[in-house]
Amino acid sequence: MIDYQKILETITSNCALSKDKGEIATYIPELAKVDRSRFGIHLVNSEKKEFQSGDSNELFSIQSISKVLSLAYAISIIGEAVWQRVDVEPSGDPFNHLSLLELENGIPRNPLINAGAIVIADILVSHLENPKSDFLQFVRKLANDDSIDFDPNVAQSEKKTGFRNYAAANLLKSYGNLKNDVDIVLDFYFHQCSIAMNCAQLTKVFYLFMNRGVCQQNITHLSISQVKRINALMLTCGFYDEAGEFAFEVGLPGKSGVGGGIVALLPGKYCVATWSPGLNAKGNSKLGMEALEKLTTATAQSIF
Ligand code: GLN
Repeated sequence: MIDYQKILETITSNCALSKDKGEIATYIPELAKVDRSRFGIHLVNSEKKEFQSGDSNELFSIQSISKVLSLAYAISIIGEAVWQRVDVEPSGDPFNHLSLLELENGIPRNPLINAGAIVIADILVSHLENPKSDFLQFVRKLANDDSIDFDPNVAQSEKKTGFRNYAAANLLKSYGNLKNDVDIVLDFYFHQCSIAMNCAQLTKVFYLFMNRGVCQQNITHLSISQVKRINALMLTCGFYDEAGEFAFEVGLPGKSGVGGGIVALLPGKYCVATWSPGLNAKGNSKLGMEALEKLTTATAQSIF
């Protein structure tokens, strides 16, 4: 039997000793207020047993982690038609780069870079009656937790400084790959990114991706093949131009956000979330990546 609790505690104390904790994202001013020394980790296994250490109950901004949830929701609504609007290839580029978008005629490389997530946001805006509240209800239902909410200050903060996302949305619009108004789509996108969660809630929300599309409440939200595809995208695109490094060091499908969160999963075995707000040069949580490398090494469990 693997002693997950002991492993998580060892990881937390090692991370506390680490001198280089990375840099906080400041391009969204509201995110710059967070204390860099925070670190939390939470793991839920397939029997729904939970293990945690550090600041695992502290709320943080999930940011790009939300892109997996919006993709899952869009797929659950329009299925394979999603792939007519966005591709499934790794970009090898930072999350907010626009160069490939122009080269490839407004079809984003994948749904986990910003341009791709903005197209997914557009799909949801087209298909939902109340896009923001319907999306929030979807996320709450996955976790069976109605306390999950947007952080309006973070959404507002990004709205004021999200110039690159406005550029991406306008470029998409010029290629005909954005059906709704740029401001409406970005308002949705900034809100989805602003959702606040803690590590424990994140593992609950992502449980279905390690459990063949079935959430902790035994509701089937996605088919086995849809989950296979979303996990494949997390593995190949979830860390932007560091996806190779994450597969190499950690060996799990996962997704990061500039709020310092990472969620990762081993299909059929466990789902784990880490939070440490300092980022490395590629915009992924520095200690979060190191923690997950230690986890898969100590347990000798990864998809490889
Ligand atoms: N909201 C952020 C942005 O669009 C998300 C980026 C991220 O978490 N990598 O820039």
